[in-house]
Amino acid sequence: MLRMSKIHKWFGKLHVLKDVNLDVKEGEVIVIIGASGSGKSTFLRCINFLEEAEKGVVQFRGKPILKNRNLTGIRKEIGMVFQHFNLFPHMNVLHNVMEGPVHTRHMSPHDAEKLARGLLEKVGLSDKAKVYPSTLSGGQKQRVAIARALAMQPSVLLFDEPTSALDPELVGEVVSVMKDLANEGMTMIVVTHEMWFAREAADRVVFMDEGTIIEEAPPEKMFSEPENERTKQFLKQIL
Ligand code: ADP
Ligand code: MG
Repeated sequence: MLRMSKIHKWFGKLHVLKDVNLDVKEGEVIVIIGASGSGKSTFLRCINFLEEAEKGVVQFRGKPILKNRNLTGIRKEIGMVFQHFNLFPHMNVLHNVMEGPVHTRHMSPHDAEKLARGLLEKVGLSDKAKVYPSTLSGGQKQRVAIARALAMQPSVLLFDEPTSALDPELVGEVVSVMKDLANEGMTMIVVTHEMWFAREAADRVVFMDEGTIIEEAPPEKMFSEPENERTKQFLKQIL
C-alpha cells in the first residue's frame, strides 16, 4: 500500500531523516516509537507531503506520489490525525465531519450528513452532533477528529501522538476507537507512547532514533527481546 524508500529530510543544515525505509501492507498497523526529536512527526508528514523530503520516494499502491501531479488525490487517500485535534471552532461537530466529504469529495450535503452521523455513532458521539468543539473534552475532540478523518474515506490513516495532549483518564476512549479501526482492517501508521495499543493492535513496532529506523519487529519481540542497544535503552525508560 505504501512504500517509503531512502527518505532524507533536512531543515536547513539539520539532517532530520537519514535514509528511512518503510513498507506498509494493506491492513497493517505500524506503531512508531522513539525519543522526542528523533524525526517521527517529520517522517509522518513526509508521507502525505505536509513536508517534502529532499531525497527519496513515497509510493502509494505501487506508484510514486508526485507533488505537482497527484497530490490532491493522494491527500484524500492518506488521512491524518494530529495531537492537537485542529477542529474548525466555528462549525458544530456534525459540520466538522461533513466538511471534507462536501468540499473535497463533492458529496451532496444529504449524503455527507448521513455519512457523518454514522461516523459519529462509530466514535460514540451521536449525541454531540449539534454542539461546538469548545464544549467538548479533549477525548471527545479527538474522537471527532478521527470521525472527520474517516469521512474522507481514506485508505491509510496516520496518527501523530493522538493522545499526548489528553488528560490520562481520557486516553482510553481514544485508543479504544483506534483499536476498533485496527480490528476492522484499517491501514494505520501510529506515532504513540501508548504501549498497550502497540502490544494489542500493532503488527510491527518501528523504533526511530536520530532520524533513522534502528529496529523493527512485531510487538511481542520488540518489547521482550529487542536487539539493538539503543532500543533497549529507550524501552527501559518508557516501559
Ligand atoms: P519527533 O516527532 O520524533 O519528536 P520531529 O520530527 O518533530 O521529531 O523533529 C525532528 C527534528 O527536526 C527535531 O530536531 C526538530 O527540532 C526538527 N524540526 C522539526 N520540524 C522543524 C521545522 N519545521 N523546522 C526546523 N526544524 C524542525
Ligand atoms: Mg512528534
